[in-house]
Amino acid sequence: MSRPDTPPEDDGRDPSLKVGRRAWIRSGSLMLAATVLDPFAPAPLLGTDGPGADVLRVGLITDLHYADKPPAGTRYYRETLGKLEEAARQFAADKPAFVVELGDLIDAADSVEIEQRWLNRIDGEFSAIAPDRHYVLGNHCVDMLTKEEFLGGVEREQSYYAFERGGFHFVVLDACFRGDGQPYGRRNSHWTDANVSPVEIEWLAADLKAADKPVIVFVHQRLDVSGDYGVKNAPEVRRVIEDSGRVLAVFQGHSHENDYREINGIHYTVLRAMVEGPTVGDSGYSLLSIARDGTLHLTGFRRQQSYRLNP
Ligand SMILES: [Zn+2]
Repeated sequence: MSRPDTPPEDDGRDPSLKVGRRAWIRSGSLMLAATVLDPFAPAPLLGTDGPGADVLRVGLITDLHYADKPPAGTRYYRETLGKLEEAARQFAADKPAFVVELGDLIDAADSVEIEQRWLNRIDGEFSAIAPDRHYVLGNHCVDMLTKEEFLGGVEREQSYYAFERGGFHFVVLDACFRGDGQPYGRRNSHWTDANVSPVEIEWLAADLKAADKPVIVFVHQRLDVSGDYGVKNAPEVRRVIEDSGRVLAVFQGHSHENDYREINGIHYTVLRAMVEGPTVGDSGYSLLSIARDGTLHLTGFRRQQSYRLNP
């Protein structure tokens, strides 16, 4: 059993969930890539055959918060464009099979018209990166826009769904429902009231039951903590995920910072937000390499931490 060589920052949230952080290490080369902030560090060297072979690569970005407006606090909305450009160059070199945007693609505009313009702008850049790409709904995506408007803007039909690539099953979840079951949209929600709807939980249970491959889940708000950043009914969602016995890992955004927890044998990783900080060096994005045996190498660029997650 491996132990972390550097524990993740303790944010003080929900210590009850910080159970056994087994099975993750930062490999020397990956750590170096993170330390020297080299965006063009090579992807992890994996065997070309055998159980450790790299069978699928996935690009991950989150919390772009694009808006054509001046910075606020640590969030530099316009600078997201340059950061995404760099990620695009990295992905062009590494050739992931698909790219997942983990939510908050846009920030918050004062009108539907302006928000749609900003969405078009950033989605134009994102679309050029990968023909096979996936959008996880973040609270900001559906702050001003309704879900129909956001999904229409990025030419998608469903806010939660599953798909398969390279022998793995992937699930995109939508936690943008209020506690009373109403979907977010048109400034009708508070960011701390994130829920996966009962209908969606039912769908998830059925989908995971039918799945016959290892599963990776993508969601914006966190399933691994309670408190403001957590999905309110996360324990219920986790139970479904755990009961399936097939989920390897959950990748999340929302907190804007690197974080990791292991709960009952499932890895929950939070990825660094692209919007944070004024320079490209403050960015974060990553390449997930999935091995045939289910080992996950997350190669982090810029301020994104790298991990090896064992099945
Ligand atoms: Zn965000």
